[in-house]
Amino acid sequence: MKKNDFGPIPGSTILNAVSGHKAIVMAANVRIASVAQGIFRAAKDTDSAVFMELARSECDLKGGYTGLTPQDFSKRMNEAAQAIGFDAWALHADHITIKKGDAGEVDSTKQLIDAQIAAGYTSFAIDASHLFNFEGKNVQEELDPNIRITSDLAHYIKKGMNGREYGLEVEVGEIGRKDGSGLVLTKPEEAVTFIRALNENDVFPHVLAIANGSTHGHVYDANGNVVEQLSIDIPQTKAIAKALRDNKLKVGIAQHGITGTPRDLINLHFPKGDIIKGNVGTFWQDVVFSTLKVYEPSLYKSIQDWTLEKYRPANPGKSDRQIFDGNCKMAIKEFFKDLYSLEEGTEHAIQSMAYAESLVFFRAFGAYGSASLVRKSLK
Ligand SMILES: [Zn+2]
Repeated sequence: MKKNDFGPIPGSTILNAVSGHKAIVMAANVRIASVAQGIFRAAKDTDSAVFMELARSECDLKGGYTGLTPQDFSKRMNEAAQAIGFDAWALHADHITIKKGDAGEVDSTKQLIDAQIAAGYTSFAIDASHLFNFEGKNVQEELDPNIRITSDLAHYIKKGMNGREYGLEVEVGEIGRKDGSGLVLTKPEEAVTFIRALNENDVFPHVLAIANGSTHGHVYDANGNVVEQLSIDIPQTKAIAKALRDNKLKVGIAQHGITGTPRDLINLHFPKGDIIKGNVGTFWQDVVFSTLKVYEPSLYKSIQDWTLEKYRPANPGKSDRQIFDGNCKMAIKEFFKDLYSLEEGTEHAIQSMAYAESLVFFRAFGAYGSASLVRKSLK
């Protein structure tokens, strides 16, 4: 661990340290940087390791929809960690997504990876799960395009990191993909085939993201109201983890799409230890917007009006709440200057909310004490 500069440590160090314990490391998608200090403070007070992350859609060379480039994101997270004095965190590239897999897309992806490495990222998630060969005659053939692109990019990251340690996440089964009969879940055989093929290509991920019933963001009922539910298929998740273990494949599960899952149910029912990384994204954006509603109502109204005006035409039949929830992330870049010059009292409230909510997440995840596990593993 670096001495006292509170920079990010390798994602592998954190994931390896918690592996074998009943703990899930929270990975926070920090779309608006104000929440970061609150998260780090809670991490420090509860001795919980944490990942700070943004996906390609949220943060790329042009700023993604958060307006942050990898360099900007890294700078803000480093500053927040330093301000709090917290050491057990990783800077993670969530969803480095490849959707077509053609040469142009692979090339631009490598440019993004170059920028992430230059910005000091210590962990990477390659998501080529969209590349699924529906004509494949068996699982191996179906997964072949994903295996190929994931291996190529993993080797590219390895070369770029030039001997430095880092975390690696890969994805099999597109999260939230539906067919005629509902969400398509990853099968144990797919997870095993995928990881084994990657290992054969000299790629050894620390975590595997699977499609296990969660979706990104909120879930709604027919009236457009938010539904709080335990949407992940726990037996399927356990079966996948067991199949990986039975086949001596050393990889944990990364759970995506946790926003909207009640934390008492996470606390009691999530298979901690099978799942070792838990992504919480939309939730942190809600913390900011729900605070603005009271602390800076005119700014909130401007954001609301802008979002509804822009996205209502494309969403007939949906409630304003649903349209706002689903698209307010696109307002972050539009209102960047306002969101990064909030009044001191607003900042304080956001950080305090983020602090309190993080306590509850870390507790529900069984993460208390995980930072010490990380430090111990380095001795
Ligand atoms: Zn995700």
